[in-house]
Amino acid sequence: MSRLIEKIYALFRMNILIFVLLAITAIALLAYNHGLNEVKDIMLPEYPYFQATSDSADGGSSVVKMSKTDSSIVVDYELKEGYAYPYVSVKILLGDGKTKGLDLSKYDSIFVWLKPRGEGSVRLYLRNFSEAYSVAGQETTLKFNELEFFPLEETYPAIFVPREFRVAGWWVAQNNINVHHAHVDISNVPLVEIQTGTNAPLGYGTMEIKGLRFKGKTIPREKLVTALVVMWFVTFLIILIIRFFDYSRERAANKKKREELEKNLLALEIEKSEYEKSSKEDPLTGCLNRAGFSSVLLREQENLSKNGCPVSFVILDIDFFKHINDTYGHNVGDEVLVNLTKLIQSKIRNTDALVRWGGEEFVILCGDTPIQNAQFLAEKLRMAIENAQLIKQQQVTCSFGVAEMIAGEDPKRLFERADKALYASKQGGRNRVTSATFKRG
Ligand code: GH3
Ligand code: MG
Ligand code: MG
Repeated sequence: MSRLIEKIYALFRMNILIFVLLAITAIALLAYNHGLNEVKDIMLPEYPYFQATSDSADGGSSVVKMSKTDSSIVVDYELKEGYAYPYVSVKILLGDGKTKGLDLSKYDSIFVWLKPRGEGSVRLYLRNFSEAYSVAGQETTLKFNELEFFPLEETYPAIFVPREFRVAGWWVAQNNINVHHAHVDISNVPLVEIQTGTNAPLGYGTMEIKGLRFKGKTIPREKLVTALVVMWFVTFLIILIIRFFDYSRERAANKKKREELEKNLLALEIEKSEYEKSSKEDPLTGCLNRAGFSSVLLREQENLSKNGCPVSFVILDIDFFKHINDTYGHNVGDEVLVNLTKLIQSKIRNTDALVRWGGEEFVILCGDTPIQNAQFLAEKLRMAIENAQLIKQQQVTCSFGVAEMIAGEDPKRLFERADKALYASKQGGRNRVTSATFKRG
């Protein structure tokens, strides 16, 4: 029961990890798609750091005039001949406006609110400072990340992504920029310029600018994906480790259980064999009882019928045993039985089986023994008993009957013959051996 609970708990523990992970992933993706935005707005009516300039700095003669409305700034200008490429420009300073700008590379879109107009294109410059190619204080050395576009009604505000920018070739050429620095770099932008476009027509024009917005994600997409992948990977690793330990623990427990079962089985087998043995033994004398005798008899019967091995049967009965019991008590009677058993066991072969037939009657089943040998054995036993001191109170003698088994014969007949011979011994005066008359062949 407790193992089942443990298993359910383990399953729950593993799945809860996956559920938590799924929830975290879903929340992270939702948050990413619907939030986690980082927005930097530069709305010019409220932003103090900008100015309108013209090509007069380059020796041109264009003029520019700036005014403000509630929501935008209005740049009125007149492009005039003078400089090779007449222009006017609105310069918006970020950071310190010189060497420390804003890192715009973390944003993925750039919004430009520039009123649609009919005077051609507009250039947007994100000017980057880097010690690799810029000289502090020299505005011309700030990298020209540029993009030129037509402000149109249908694309208001105009939205760009950083990769739409390119680096102005003339800037590369003029500043002798190493090829490794000729690519777009907007990681440190102190200056943004909105300028009249290439080949802007001479004459009057207007630019109405509301402002800029840089929009990005608080966490970059790649970082989010990497974090989620690492989280899933680590979780599955943890699950694998937990599984591995659970499995090892289970295996160890099973092994222990199996060993215990095997031990129990062994104990049971020992108990069983002891029980079997004791059920075939006479408790007083330790020799076989009738149940034990049956299996021995079967074996010898088979030996006789298959191999022709003669089997003989000696039955013996203590003489005047009742008298011993009556005179010295039952305990002394028992002592006679025990000592008699010991004596007989010491005189017979291992292959002979001594059986307590009942009361003070014993049977010896002698395998591979013709009747003459059995008779000889009986005589030997009779004399040994007669001469032995089974109890100190008196001599004890036994009477014997001997018979040989006939192949295929009902054992009852054999017992009857042996019993008859025993009876004859008793009748004949006891303490003697009688063989049943039987001629082989
Ligand atoms: P016989 O010479 O004719 O055999 O005379 P007996 O007295 O030996 O014959 P009987 O069969 O009359 O007596 C057998 C006695 O054996 C009767 C019984 O009390 C005793 N006896 C049987 N089993 C046991 C036993 O386990 N212990 C003891 N002490 N006596 C037993
Ligand atoms: Mg008897
Ligand atoms: Mg007797």
